[in-house]
Amino acid sequence: MNWTNLSADERRQAARDWLAALSGALARRDYRRVAGMMHGDGYWRDLLTFGWEFRTLHGIEAVRAWLPGAFDRHCISDVRLDGDCAIGSMLEYRPTLEFFFRFETEMAHGRGYARLLAEPDAPDGPKALTLLTAMHEWKSFPQSNARSRPREDLSLAARQADNWLDRRNAARQYREHDPQVIVIGGGQAGLMVAARLRQLDIDALVVEKTARIGDVWRNRYHSLHLHNETCMNHFAYLPFPEHWPAFIPKDKLADWLEFYAEAMEVNVWTGTLCLGGGYDEGAGCWNVRLRLADGSVRTMRPSHVVIALGVSGIPSIPELVGAREFGGPIVHSNSDTDALAVDGKSVLVVGAGNSAHDVAQQMHWRGAKVAMLQRSSVTIVSLESSVRPYQLYRDNDGVRPIEDTDLIAASVPYPLLARLHRPLSKRMAEEDKDLLDGLRKVGFLLDNGEDDTGYFLKLLRYQAGYYLNIGASDLIVEGKIKLKAGVDIARLRPSEVVFSDGTSLHADIIVLATGYQPLQEGVRALFGDEVADRVGPIWDIGADGELCAMYARTGQPGLYVSGGGLPGARAYSHYTALLIKAEIEGLLVDRRSASGGARPPERRAEPAAAATPY
Ligand SMILES: Cc1cc2nc3c(=O)[nH]c(=O)nc-3n(C[C@H](O)[C@H](O)[C@H](O)COP(=O)(O)OP(=O)(O)OC[C@H]3O[C@@H](n4cnc5c(N)ncnc54)[C@H](O)[C@@H]3O)c2cc1C
Repeated sequence: MNWTNLSADERRQAARDWLAALSGALARRDYRRVAGMMHGDGYWRDLLTFGWEFRTLHGIEAVRAWLPGAFDRHCISDVRLDGDCAIGSMLEYRPTLEFFFRFETEMAHGRGYARLLAEPDAPDGPKALTLLTAMHEWKSFPQSNARSRPREDLSLAARQADNWLDRRNAARQYREHDPQVIVIGGGQAGLMVAARLRQLDIDALVVEKTARIGDVWRNRYHSLHLHNETCMNHFAYLPFPEHWPAFIPKDKLADWLEFYAEAMEVNVWTGTLCLGGGYDEGAGCWNVRLRLADGSVRTMRPSHVVIALGVSGIPSIPELVGAREFGGPIVHSNSDTDALAVDGKSVLVVGAGNSAHDVAQQMHWRGAKVAMLQRSSVTIVSLESSVRPYQLYRDNDGVRPIEDTDLIAASVPYPLLARLHRPLSKRMAEEDKDLLDGLRKVGFLLDNGEDDTGYFLKLLRYQAGYYLNIGASDLIVEGKIKLKAGVDIARLRPSEVVFSDGTSLHADIIVLATGYQPLQEGVRALFGDEVADRVGPIWDIGADGELCAMYARTGQPGLYVSGGGLPGARAYSHYTALLIKAEIEGLLVDRRSASGGARPPERRAEPAAAATPY
């Protein structure tokens, strides 16, 4: 059977037949048969359906070993096709028959996405190359939609003393009660998870240390635009208007964040710094100390805390011998570099990641003589080829709801994504040959990721170690930004930097674009060693093929971590909110899951690395 030769009806029937066979085998608990419906190189990814965690299983044996423990406790039924089928391909496997499906568990509605290979020689029919099963909604806590909007009794409203605004203002003041959840950080990740919690009727407060929502973007350098296109950057529930530009300017995004919080009725306290706190094991809640905008300190006792601090908030600052002698400003790139008077000055930018390039480019155009110090290699990609990894979002922008595109994206587990990105990043490097050759010529140290998977996997693993060229690479190739590569700073002298190879450079200003400490250190700074050690290293793809301690339950009860790029924060805040709701409502009967509970810290594959290479 070749999927491409079938009519649309026949494809739908083939998908229905496969789903019926899957459903039947699961109902009979015939796990051998279920596992046999997977391709030998197939991946089954489960997001909260068969346990309270994210799971990636690769191959028939892994599925067979997992199912008895998982499915016996979390059955699914009523597996049914949802919409039309598409024809696709993946790696060397083609064509694939792809479709959404829906199913039910005892407590939830589920959604899934499958990619089938026809396998004409297999006696028992098509095999799944990828299979995603994901929790969509708790049955007891349905979310509103266009057909089930909250409906106010207007005759009652007419008699009430307070109106919507009065109630909204009262709710966000927390005069006499504490929220159930505190979200630390009012960037896009914090706001989206809070919006989702709000839809699940959970009282969540976002605390944001800056004066105004969006300041995290307003305070970044003047010319900043998002580097990925709008098609992948939509917010949960509220996609950007269709007339918005492909690359959103930072202040436009900042204002959107502010608007989003209001539109989604997210409670935010700005000018409020989370000072830290601790977990009260006995009471099963947190003590969270907040320094409010008026300088007072208030301790709140939420059951849950979501860390949405961004990269970690703690800059990585190398110790420089002779720093006192240097004489000029030495600042980290997270400070207001726009405020430095650089015209005619010699500036050394230490680092070669995204921030380093952006700062170097900015300073060059502001009249500085800029040199970049690169200690270790970086992945460079032109803006044109950087779109390839998210072609899925481009193709589906305005065509299907972003949640559906997120499900298709989630159906490709990280290990498979890494396999896809080896050939893809090679192709991107070929497209960028002229740029990369030019960089090599001036001695720039290039890499293609630790496993040859290019920038996109670096982005997913730790958001560092790459640069999407918006012009700084060209300036380096042209010699307008000088480069010192493969050395370290040995010491500083008055207005001079001496490198480890004995050479030296005149400098008036040093900008340390040296990245940030791992996010686990941010957790440590707020909640201490015990909590940070329970959470373990955050980010990177663990040996189990899932991100470490992100979005799902962590080793610390009541603590979740959100963040990353917009697509990840948007898609996975859905699951974070479902889990928090379940914990608050007592739906997760025991914290330990069929497969052993929250992931222990030691599951990590490689050490965390949030620092920008330099
Ligand atoms: C030049 C550039 C281009 C980018 N382009 C894209 C793109 O196109 N697409 C994309 O997805 N991503 C892009 N990113 C990445 C983007 O920065 C991150 O995706 C995003 O900012 C992370 O969001 P976040 O909410 O996790 O963290 P942040 O946006 O950093 O927000 C964290 C918030 O927490 C607050 N905070 C920290 N500590 C505390 C505390 N103790 N108490 C209270 N509040 C606190 C901070 O003030 C901040 O507002 C880009 C980044 C840069 C710099």
